[in-house]
Amino acid sequence: MTTLRAGGASDVGRVRAINEDSFLIADGLYAVADGVGGHQAGEVASATAVEALAVEFTTATRDGLVDAFQAANEAVWTLAQESVERRGMGTTLTALALVEGEDGDDQLVLANVGDSRGYLFQGGELVQITDDHSLVGELVREGQITEAEARVHPRRSIITRALGMDARIEIDTWTVDPSTGDRLVLCSDGLTNEVSDDRIAATLRRLGDPQDCAGELVRLARANGGNDNITVVVVEVLDDSGRRAADSAAARGTAGARRSVVHDTGPVEADELFGDRSTPDSSSAGSIPREAPAPEGSPAAPGVGPRRLTWRVAAFAVVALAILGLGAVAMVWYARSSYFVGLDGDQVAIYKGRPGGLLWFDPTVEQVTDLTVDQVAPARRAELRQGKTRASLDAAEAFVVRIAEEGERLGLADPEPEPEGARPPTTSTVPAGTGGAP
Ligand code: MN
Repeated sequence: MTTLRAGGASDVGRVRAINEDSFLIADGLYAVADGVGGHQAGEVASATAVEALAVEFTTATRDGLVDAFQAANEAVWTLAQESVERRGMGTTLTALALVEGEDGDDQLVLANVGDSRGYLFQGGELVQITDDHSLVGELVREGQITEAEARVHPRRSIITRALGMDARIEIDTWTVDPSTGDRLVLCSDGLTNEVSDDRIAATLRRLGDPQDCAGELVRLARANGGNDNITVVVVEVLDDSGRRAADSAAARGTAGARRSVVHDTGPVEADELFGDRSTPDSSSAGSIPREAPAPEGSPAAPGVGPRRLTWRVAAFAVVALAILGLGAVAMVWYARSSYFVGLDGDQVAIYKGRPGGLLWFDPTVEQVTDLTVDQVAPARRAELRQGKTRASLDAAEAFVVRIAEEGERLGLADPEPEPEGARPPTTSTVPAGTGGAP
């Protein structure tokens, strides 16, 4: 049995009149929600989402959590339609649940919609797991601004995905293998806009008790300005029933990293390729023919006696072929258009194509970077092994820069960087204090 303990704290901050954040600490279910909307609608939205999540999370599986998210979205959406004052209200929702995985083992599932965040603190290192669904979050992912610039960006409060905005929502989920001593932090942007990741990590290193951590992080955000409501939930894996010891033994002698975080679903393909995530209706889908229709008047259609190929039928055939051709072009474009960041041996590389390939299109290496897997935070390595899809080469390069900086902050960078010709293609040593073993 995996056992967890948690602590949480929430504060209105020093500027706002009311606290529109909500949080939940229940048995095996933890959540943070940050509501938006005037006339206290934000407060209603976040409280509704958290309550609905708690009520609807009845099956402790990943799908059960996703269903509970959809139900929470419906609850907020329904309420938003009921009165003019509540129209347009919405909320972020970041939740962590203890579930039974497909193999029967206990697992943690992190799910997210919006710009509240989920972090994993493992072996003294802090890694942000969730992607911010915000305008500045997208700019950071595309490499147009830095994380520091995002924290003070005038449009940092614009979110691109939230509960209550539409009848259905897209939810990102990650599976995390629980490991004794790991801590997960769920928080609203009132923390992350005021306190850097380094400060959050330092606080987690200094304080062990989840409640102390949550309280101290809220205090720091207030001290740094408190411009928004601040909410923090810290969950600690007290006991993983021997999983960590087993994994460490299994990982010994291999590259070292254990498989800790896997991104299940994400804001990749459809949204990034076809754009315009604000209108997920048929208008954009219509422009890319997914199935080329077999036209009724096609020349191959059985008829009474031999039919002459009239100009009308010929024109139809030309159009049908054009549609088929467009479909094929779209397919090739889809298979080849995007990039992903993965591993080429021990080196982090940018590939063109889709992870694992699509149809007969295998991904090709676009560029091999100087970054090695040892220089990447252990919590990111599973993600790289799977391939992290990005919409453009720029976005892929920005992601590499981000994980390189993250690794540097964690002290994983090579102490003597040898700029060229010194890229060892074979295994390199794992720096002490990283990898699987504690
Ligand atoms: Mn906020």
